[in-house]
Amino acid sequence: MGAALRAPYLRCNAGVVAVKQPRRRLHGMDETAALPAIDTHCPYCSLQCGMGLRPVTGAVPVEVVERPGFPVNLGALCGKGASAAAVLAPGARLTTPLMRPHRGAPLAPVGWEAALDRIAVELSRTAERHGRDAVGVFGGGGLTNEKAYLLGKFARVVLRTSAIDYNGRFCMSSAAAAHSRAFGLDRGMPFPLEDIPRTGCVILVGGNPAETMPPFVRYLRELRENGGTLVVVDPRRTRTAELADLHLAPRPGTDLALALGLLHLVVAEGRTDEEFIAERTTGWPEARAAAMAHWPELVESITGVPVPGLRETVRLFCDAPASMVLTARGPEQQAKGTDTVSAWINLCLATGRAGRPYSGYGCLTGQGNGQGGREHGQKADQLPGYRRIDDPAARRHVAAVWGVDPQSLPGPGRSAYELLESLGREVRALLLCGSNPVVSAPRAGHVAERFAALDFLAVSDVVLSETAATADVVLPVTQWAEETGTMTSLEGRVILRRRAVAPPPGVRSDLEVLHALAARLGHGEGFPVEPEKAFDELRRASAGGPADYAGISYERIAAEDGVFWPCPSAGHPGTPRLFLDRFATPDGRARFVPVQHRPAAEEPDREYPLRLTTGRVLSQYQSGAQTRRVDALNSAAPGPYVELHPRLAERLGVAEGAEVAVVSRRGRAVAPARVTDAIRPDTVFMPFHWAGAGRANTVTNPALDPVSRMPEFKVCAVRLEPVVRAPAP
Ligand code: SF4
Repeated sequence: MGAALRAPYLRCNAGVVAVKQPRRRLHGMDETAALPAIDTHCPYCSLQCGMGLRPVTGAVPVEVVERPGFPVNLGALCGKGASAAAVLAPGARLTTPLMRPHRGAPLAPVGWEAALDRIAVELSRTAERHGRDAVGVFGGGGLTNEKAYLLGKFARVVLRTSAIDYNGRFCMSSAAAAHSRAFGLDRGMPFPLEDIPRTGCVILVGGNPAETMPPFVRYLRELRENGGTLVVVDPRRTRTAELADLHLAPRPGTDLALALGLLHLVVAEGRTDEEFIAERTTGWPEARAAAMAHWPELVESITGVPVPGLRETVRLFCDAPASMVLTARGPEQQAKGTDTVSAWINLCLATGRAGRPYSGYGCLTGQGNGQGGREHGQKADQLPGYRRIDDPAARRHVAAVWGVDPQSLPGPGRSAYELLESLGREVRALLLCGSNPVVSAPRAGHVAERFAALDFLAVSDVVLSETAATADVVLPVTQWAEETGTMTSLEGRVILRRRAVAPPPGVRSDLEVLHALAARLGHGEGFPVEPEKAFDELRRASAGGPADYAGISYERIAAEDGVFWPCPSAGHPGTPRLFLDRFATPDGRARFVPVQHRPAAEEPDREYPLRLTTGRVLSQYQSGAQTRRVDALNSAAPGPYVELHPRLAERLGVAEGAEVAVVSRRGRAVAPARVTDAIRPDTVFMPFHWAGAGRANTVTNPALDPVSRMPEFKVCAVRLEPVVRAPAP
């Protein structure tokens, strides 16, 4: 598997791998060498870089080649995308259904019909015994729009359960909630990426794209080459922070106070845009009053960011003719994440940096289809088109497309963590698609116990993830290069992944799985196995909704390098830039939301005196289920570690590379120490990609944001304990 990265790639700065393999090889090493490449997109993050896939012979059936014409990444990929084909090899992925004849027995190969029959029987039996809401569905932010749409329809029409949510709730739901309440619409970035180099100042809060999506960094470099400035807010001096003109390093969990302090200074220094506030917003007096209660010295004491740094940030942001705030998981994955994002939006509104060219607030969505995945119905409170499930008009519209009585549709269900918490209690059987909560959920040890308490678990996935390994039935499904479907990238661009290679025998698509299960459960119609048919139905279901895809077709996406939603008709050009004329609220005005700083759900104390924050590294992706199966990525990032400051290391007697335990009220995670002055002395960091003893989410806190129901991954109270191993006998 490691060979995939050897010859065709050239490693560049910021972890970007420029793909040097030409699209058509004339003097290749095998008989497929002259085959043209098929244009598609990376299977991983929300940047959805364009790439080509060219069939080759061997265990890995395609190779990744350049696609320089796709405007977002211009051919560049990071190591994850460049090596993605390795997961197509039979040794890396599932190729046959697996079933456990009874609890305690090992998983064993089984035929498709027997596996599907078992799932249908178990789901029916559970609903009969315990009620429809005892059957749950858990989706993923990496599923295509077509899969997310049909999974939501399967839950509401076939199972008629309210118990459906997805792991995207863990990723950007706080930004989505704040976006909706301020602007009346949630599209992570209301402007295209190409606008970033054209603004004057970017404040990037709690994001590290130099590691998570390296090709994105070119937009930040071009911004600075054009004379713009970059301010990075992060408790760690990350690779992204090293690119910045100014780096602010607040204590984890204090970004809300920081944003309020900046707004206070904006008011105090007379930098508000009164005309914009009067003409295009509501709610300013209350938001202003809240900000004025957060004077600079108070904010310095809360955040640890010196007042001169606050003043310099305001100067850079307000002196520029246009400015942006971009947030990522740092401010969002908090028990006050929605209010924190609202505070940053308030800063944009008060300075007239929203709804104008090259200005605004945007969220750097994380998962590959984090945007589309939250628009089409796999979220507990939504129907397709980003409609609310408790809106009678929305229910009527979607029910008409589905050919069912609106009264038959269930109401809102539990959020992702609350759904996991209910396993084995209210929810007794679960169908899980493309997610690995045993590694990625907070308080993961407890979540694993909840999975074990289920009466029945079925998982469809590409690989035998840690969660799939606990299932009663595992279905091997197609992955990105083997199927066609649409994704919606972080900038709201709907793009098309194309099938480039046939899946191995024994592997079926998620759409085929849903079709087969629906048929067994009495719904022979309504679950197409052809992605384009599913998309055409999605278009009708989304028509007239906030995320309107009605005018988007596979043909248009291919011809136009993607189409930005909303796009209500075939003749509509799509909408790269939102809100330039009016915001999507009933009165067309953006809404200030008055917010106050409050502490993290768990603050340090004598027993747990440090803050833990978690995040990602360059060469792994999310729970690592795919990337941990790629040799080249494992060589670069072989396992977890605990990052701590030299002063803290000295005080605790911890040497570089020595094992250290991170202990919270929920458990302990053990990993080697990495000593660096790039982190605050009161904070430790762990990446969360691994299972086992070094699983960071064993320790994290599931405290939920009251609006978005997003868990507080980004801060909890911990202590460090050096691990002393007994000498070998
Ligand atoms: Fe794939 Fe994201 Fe890397 Fe692009 S930045 S190659 S989309 S993982």
